[in-house]
Amino acid sequence: MREFLGTGVSPGVGVGPVRVMTGSVPVPPVEPFTGDRVAETARALAALEEVAQELESRATAAGGETHDVLAAQALMARDPDLAGEVTVGVSAGLSAARAVYESFGFYRELLGGAGAYISARVADLDDVRDRTVARLMAHEERGLPESGEPYVLITQDLAPADLALLDPAHCVAFVTEEGGPIGHTAILARAMGIPAIVACPGALEVPVGARVLADGASGRLIVDPEPAQIDKARAAEKARAEAVGSATGPGGTKDGHAVPLLANVGGPKDIASALEHGAEGVGLFRSEYLFLDEAVPPGEAEQIAAYRAVLEAFPRVVVRVLDAGADKPLSFLPPAGVEPNPALGERGLRLLRRHPDVLEGQLRALAKAAEGFPPDRLRVMAPMVTDAEEAKMFTDKCREAGIQQAGIMIEVPAAAVRAHDIAEEVDFFSLGTNDLAQYVFAVDRQVSSLTRLQDPWRPALLDLMAHAARAATDAGKGCGVCGEAAADPVMACVLAGLGVTSLSMSSPSLPLVRAALAAHTLAECQEAARAARAARTARDARAAARAALPALETLGL
Ligand code: PEP
Ligand code: MG
Repeated sequence: MREFLGTGVSPGVGVGPVRVMTGSVPVPPVEPFTGDRVAETARALAALEEVAQELESRATAAGGETHDVLAAQALMARDPDLAGEVTVGVSAGLSAARAVYESFGFYRELLGGAGAYISARVADLDDVRDRTVARLMAHEERGLPESGEPYVLITQDLAPADLALLDPAHCVAFVTEEGGPIGHTAILARAMGIPAIVACPGALEVPVGARVLADGASGRLIVDPEPAQIDKARAAEKARAEAVGSATGPGGTKDGHAVPLLANVGGPKDIASALEHGAEGVGLFRSEYLFLDEAVPPGEAEQIAAYRAVLEAFPRVVVRVLDAGADKPLSFLPPAGVEPNPALGERGLRLLRRHPDVLEGQLRALAKAAEGFPPDRLRVMAPMVTDAEEAKMFTDKCREAGIQQAGIMIEVPAAAVRAHDIAEEVDFFSLGTNDLAQYVFAVDRQVSSLTRLQDPWRPALLDLMAHAARAATDAGKGCGVCGEAAADPVMACVLAGLGVTSLSMSSPSLPLVRAALAAHTLAECQEAARAARAARTARDARAAARAALPALETLGL
């Protein structure tokens, strides 16, 4: 029996024989093209259009979130700039397939260098490229396996367009060697209810036909599982589903200590999912998501409409002012010059200081959007704050704009270390564990080969979070968490034990976190936090926390 560990991104247990994707798309050779270039260009553009149409018809058939992803891919295939690049490539003597391949390469580099969220979309782009190249080379497209019995799909990566064709009655789980929890494939797997594990190194070594158990909650892939292991995983799954179903209402511990559970959103389009999963409010509205494609600063009316839609839906909403730079470049907020290391450059509040008119315009729009609502409905926070001086600058600007609740994200280790200074200048903190981990471990969050170093269970990060939460408590201020760590139900209990006052996460993670908190007392959460911090490694910290949280077992966690 062998076991592989990846990241579970869609809970559920699938047991069956391994199947793999069929076909593979070759890289088109770099040979000079000597035929009719006009006809070759037409062939390339026709292939792109055919792929767009195919993606559109899959989008229509799939509906829901899958529709949006596939429709966006169809737009990529129809991008006029891409067509222009392809035309130039063929005129310069490339074959249609090679010109398509190289033109996508250009956009791929742009996206890949853009940051975690945008570069997670590179896989979508590659998929459009491969489909087009396969057509032009009369090669078999990558396809789903045929199987007479329910199977577990193991693949390098899985494109949303293929995922859309997966029938959960046949494919009982899928496992990818690559990918990550924020890629579209992970998001859609959750939406479709297919158990899934991503970033599972070595999974492709499992031979086709071998019987495996894939556990999308724990991320474990077990080859030749014993019947007892299957029973245990299924019982855990059932317990989890029951616990999640019965934990409703506001977030809090078993003994009634309230920990509001909030949603991370990117705009009004995410409201429905947040409500559906019982979010009590929004803990992180990533306002920059509204404007990633804009060339000029967003207009006031456009901003007010987006903010009001979210403010109308929830009794408390934390909007983060534009967090541009590094991960998420916005073309209307450029840094001063070329930066060799953008994650350490002008980003977040640093960029807004360079463009005060944009910051002031956004704060004005936010204040106007909040008119007529109770004063504490809107809370506004700044990303990438380093010290008390920056925090004060931001709070002053919020006050000038008439915003009553002004806070900051704790993402820079210096801000966590001196949180007691900063607490005097702001109304609340929100711990951004994604960036705080990036900076405290000195690991670029986009470098997937170093994900092991970004583990939020590493005690150094736990210490920093504990320190910041304590500073907030001492100053009588709130301290939420809005990084991905909050979505881990075991970590959520630890965070409550550290004194964190609210947890914000992507909406589908809310029910399980709610159930885990509701199953434990505050004293148990505090003991879990103490035990985790006493450990020396991430693995030991997690194990120690688990040992202090007795109801995890009954939740199947
Ligand atoms: C974070 O850094 O933890 C965070 C929530 O912000 P983002 O992921 O948008 O950088
Ligand atoms: Mg951040």
